[in-house]
Amino acid sequence: MPIQILSDALVARIAAGEVVERPASVVKELIENAIDAGAQEIRVECIEGGKRLIRVSDDGGGIPSDEAPLAFEHHATSKLKSADDLAVIHTLGFRGEALASIASVSQVTCVTRHVDEASGTLIRFDHGHVVAHERIGRTPGTTMTVEHLFSRVPARLKFLKSTQTERGHIDGIITRYALAYPAIRFTLVHDGRQTFQSLGTGNLRDVLIEVYGADAAGQMVEVGDSGSGLRDQPLISDSPTLITASGYAALPTLDHSNRTKITLFVNGRPVQDTKLSYAVIQAYHTLLMTGRYPVAVILVRVPTEDVDVNVHPAKAEVRFREPDAVFSAVQRAVRRALLDNMAPPEPPSVLTQQWAVGSGESGVFAPASGDRIAASDVIERATQSPLSGSETWDRVGIARQANGFGGYPSDIGHDSSPISTQNSELKTRRLPALRILGQLALTYILAEGPEGLYLIDQHAAHERILWERTLAQHELGAIAAQSLLDPTPVTVPADSAYLLEGQLDLLRELGFDIEPFGGATFLVRAVPALMIQDDIANALREIISDLEMGDQALRKDLEARVLKRVCKRMAIKAGRVLSFAEMQALVRDLEACESPRTCPHGRPTMIHLGVAQLAKEFGRLG
Ligand code: ADP
Ligand code: MG
Repeated sequence: MPIQILSDALVARIAAGEVVERPASVVKELIENAIDAGAQEIRVECIEGGKRLIRVSDDGGGIPSDEAPLAFEHHATSKLKSADDLAVIHTLGFRGEALASIASVSQVTCVTRHVDEASGTLIRFDHGHVVAHERIGRTPGTTMTVEHLFSRVPARLKFLKSTQTERGHIDGIITRYALAYPAIRFTLVHDGRQTFQSLGTGNLRDVLIEVYGADAAGQMVEVGDSGSGLRDQPLISDSPTLITASGYAALPTLDHSNRTKITLFVNGRPVQDTKLSYAVIQAYHTLLMTGRYPVAVILVRVPTEDVDVNVHPAKAEVRFREPDAVFSAVQRAVRRALLDNMAPPEPPSVLTQQWAVGSGESGVFAPASGDRIAASDVIERATQSPLSGSETWDRVGIARQANGFGGYPSDIGHDSSPISTQNSELKTRRLPALRILGQLALTYILAEGPEGLYLIDQHAAHERILWERTLAQHELGAIAAQSLLDPTPVTVPADSAYLLEGQLDLLRELGFDIEPFGGATFLVRAVPALMIQDDIANALREIISDLEMGDQALRKDLEARVLKRVCKRMAIKAGRVLSFAEMQALVRDLEACESPRTCPHGRPTMIHLGVAQLAKEFGRLG
């Protein structure tokens, strides 16, 4: 279709509004144009986070020489002709606004050659005015160079953030489109240095490796029909007949501190949709700890006529004709993939069972109720019959939900059950000397004190101990660093590399010696001595996700977050057998803590059943 100016009537029906907010929005619009033009290869170069220069080159179809000036007019598009087309949009663009908007607030140079023409065109705009227009040689394709964005729009310029922040936004855009279009080879260059490249193999897993690193990608499982459609580029141009969800979702071993790693596409278009994100989160119900979020890349395909993309000027939101159907397609596909790929949990021991069922109710050992019987019955059947992994999970999941628990068995101690809240006034008091009675469910230490029975969560308690020690060392400026025998190269998610680079000094003070090693790879030379046995790559990834939340956080908070993470990782886990001597040592160390009753994250380390309470439960007080 040739480029045409849309009629006023049609313009009035298009979601209007500013699309050029910051360098990343320019990058987004130019990339979308390149994809619409059928590019196989897209190269993005930026200087100073795009504030000085953005250049997007593609090998797509190019713009015919006589249409090049028209492309920069308002409401000029080759993608939409009539109002009917608006209902079935098969391209990323359709508003004909981006180039005009960009050209009015910057200097734009367009060099393009249409596939069917022998030579190309150069056309240059300075804040909306043509300053050059000539023939030029070029291979088919288009290169758009945008310089000095907003240099004459002080109100906009003022709102641009640091180079680091703007660069982060650009990284986010590139990685998202690279994930949505695995068949296109994307290259990103910042200030002359290549920071990201996807291979363009058409295989989403290859892109996952580039974006998240091989370790993380290895923990992600395929969602939806394996093979079908994934190997192909999810073409925006062919409309599916059914609602489907495919992509990759991380097993619960790889989670994130916020929702930003849930990446969603609808018909090849990246979208931010709270409800769809929630569908993904729902799929992990009972599988992730509260406060942790999934990592997932989900490509939703919806019949073109069932989705309205003309809602938001930057096209980041869409409206579905049947939102509930889309929601449940996403939730079911992700849940299925997780259940099919997870090992069934350890069958709960008799003790864990009674404990869990009892404490989910109102009191300590709740009286038998219909619910309780039903719930334990489900667990029983789950442990007896040889079910597939997913069936077992489903059933245990139901049982846990019935009991009000939302996590792995090891999280039970972290749940704010009625018992721990009853004793909240005790949380800050020091501990009396305790006598060890034994270990329960490989998770809790049972101990007796002058005030009754104590159930101590071994992981939470150890976390508290490590935290107070580390904090003391930190206050003395003496966190011991230990050099690694072999400095370890670690590749971090491409969109986090810049963030990490900005925090290397902070990390150095905490015992990490890390240096940039090209692209998104870093060389770890030393770690806090406490961590020497840890899986360094995984640790670094978690630390980055902690830092990510802290855009405005104080340095002190960031330091605390990193150190808490180190302690959490190194604390003994639930499920580990402890010898009597080990339990004794742990409880002694806990007794010596300032605040022994909570873990560094504020969850209880112990549950206390007072003698008076026990007497009441046994009916001794009448
Ligand atoms: P829209 O994408 O909504 O049509 P734009 O302002 O982004 O509006 O682009 C206007 C027109 O310029 C497009 O419709 C397309 O015909 C042409 N165009 C822009 N960028 C490219 C490109 N990289 N390759 C080929 N054609 C392009
Ligand atoms: Mg466009």
